[in-house]
Amino acid sequence: MKVFCVAEYRFEELNPLSIELLNLANQIKGDGTAEAVVIGKDVGKYAEELAKYADKVWKVEDDSLENYTPDLYVDVLLQLAEREKPDLILIGNTAQGGEFAPYLAAKMNVPIATDVVAVDVSDGVKVSRYLMQGKLMVDLKLKSTPAVLTIRQGVFKEGPEVGGEIVDAGIKPSKESRRKFVSYIEPEVGEVDITQADIIVSVGRGIEDASNIELAEELAELLGGVVAGSRPVIDNGWLPKDRQVGISGKVVKPKLYLALGISGAFQHIMGMKDSELIIAINKDPEAPIFGVAHYGVVADLFEVVPELIEKLKEIKG
Ligand SMILES: Cc1cc2nc3c(=O)[nH]c(=O)nc-3n(C[C@H](O)[C@H](O)[C@H](O)COP(=O)(O)OP(=O)(O)OC[C@H]3O[C@@H](n4cnc5c(N)ncnc54)[C@H](O)[C@@H]3O)c2cc1C
Repeated sequence: MKVFCVAEYRFEELNPLSIELLNLANQIKGDGTAEAVVIGKDVGKYAEELAKYADKVWKVEDDSLENYTPDLYVDVLLQLAEREKPDLILIGNTAQGGEFAPYLAAKMNVPIATDVVAVDVSDGVKVSRYLMQGKLMVDLKLKSTPAVLTIRQGVFKEGPEVGGEIVDAGIKPSKESRRKFVSYIEPEVGEVDITQADIIVSVGRGIEDASNIELAEELAELLGGVVAGSRPVIDNGWLPKDRQVGISGKVVKPKLYLALGISGAFQHIMGMKDSELIIAINKDPEAPIFGVAHYGVVADLFEVVPELIEKLKEIKG
């Protein structure tokens, strides 16, 4: 089968997911081809990198493609797909891919499956994908090809080197974009990066008030860690946004995650469940956080934490 992989890059760097798409394409192509498509103004250096893993790299270049816009990406991909007739079009399941992939599938009037983690082409095209924030996995069979798949990052890391050719697709956008790229807005870098911390003392609504954050800070300092929080703590302005753990915050995997007064809503759990050691202090024995904690203390945090601080001070002398 002929498998197209749409490359993605930003700030002069190819997203490694572009190579992962080619790894998957090489796995499933059979006696067909794994072909990368790279779109932009001057994409030669990306094409060279991609060619190591592709049978062919299509360059689609034009001044108007310098910055990504979904309508022009779809416009040129439609032209190329119509001419070259790929069986599958693989796109990264990123913010960018998640935007233009459904648009492309709708314009082509073909099936789409998103956030795919496995593909089997032994009998038609079957894919596996997660639902409900990873709680459930489903297998889907696509009714027809061509089809569009968006692929989850980090799944297809291994693949062969192929050494293919680079070809100018000779395709230009057929229209002007309805969106104009203005500039990138870099996120503010906070003084603490919780994703890099080995020890996190994380506070939830159970901390009750901004003035009590001090308690967590004192404990974190004694442990050599940093303070993070659940969403209500951030929404209340008790901690800055870059300290939020969870699906709409950051994913952390510290050596120790100490959860103080956090109930354990799944939106929070998704951001910390892979921590090496999870200790939860909560006065509600039914709190879901105890479902992921390695050790649980059913108690009032305002009793336990000061005692813990005293003990640590004693130990440290
Ligand atoms: C789209 C969406 C995205 C979301 N994203 C996130 C996210 O990224 N991160 C996140 O955290 N949440 C997120 N949420 C919110 C999430 O659903 C929960 O509402 C939130 O995690 C609850 O925070 P909490 O555990 O601090 O508060 P609560 O659920 O109110 O729990 C407080 C806990 O503290 C305990 N407690 C109270 N007093 C004490 C005490 N003195 N000692 C010990 N324990 C005490 C209580 O028993 C309770 O279990 C999101 C929600 C939505 C809808």
